[in-house]
Amino acid sequence: MRTQMATEAGRTTAPSEDRALVGPNLLAVLDGVTAKPETGCEHGVGWFADQLAAELLRFAHLGPAPALTEAIKQAAELHSGTCDLDHPGSPSVAIAMVQIKDDVLRYLVLGDATVVVDTKRELHVVSDTQTNRTAGAKPSDVEHALTGEIPVQDVRRVAVLSDGAARAVDLFGLFDWPKALELMAANGPDDLIRKMRQVEKEDVKAVEWPRTKVSDDATVVYLER
Ligand SMILES: [Zn+2]
Repeated sequence: MRTQMATEAGRTTAPSEDRALVGPNLLAVLDGVTAKPETGCEHGVGWFADQLAAELLRFAHLGPAPALTEAIKQAAELHSGTCDLDHPGSPSVAIAMVQIKDDVLRYLVLGDATVVVDTKRELHVVSDTQTNRTAGAKPSDVEHALTGEIPVQDVRRVAVLSDGAARAVDLFGLFDWPKALELMAANGPDDLIRKMRQVEKEDVKAVEWPRTKVSDDATVVYLER
């Protein structure tokens, strides 16, 4: 199996709050939710995404849902003494993860991140763009995740994307998902981001494609067998 990743901040003036993770059996993209004016946290979204990513790697031997549950608990402990974790603006992330273990691919999506799995028979596209759900300070957040399993032997290609990258397909319609996977197979995931940035530049006032962020942090982890 071969894995490639690409990530680019949405603006040159602020660091990206996306994180990409490639572990021994785990692929994940975490997308920090843009901080509200009040968060109750002295650390910030980038810090939270870093801690959650590190903890996820530590628990990668578990399945995606238990790994995320443990990671949320551990990340919360790191700042429960200094920060108000019950604050409604407490840092959180949208997350999409894929674990390959024991001949099974298991995925988990919480929020508007996306998992795409191309099998010999069909294309699975999993995302939750409707509910504003995220992984924050509470392990119970994981109950709302979309999860599933696919036999590894059926898997051809996998892509895990933050919404800032998935909008190449689901907002701009530059290509459909099968074509996006073909593009990444041929040119790598950075080409998807490059082509999308070009379109964003041509519509800097967000008129043709209405959107709140002209360019958003964009991250893709791409795997092929
Ligand atoms: Zn904090």
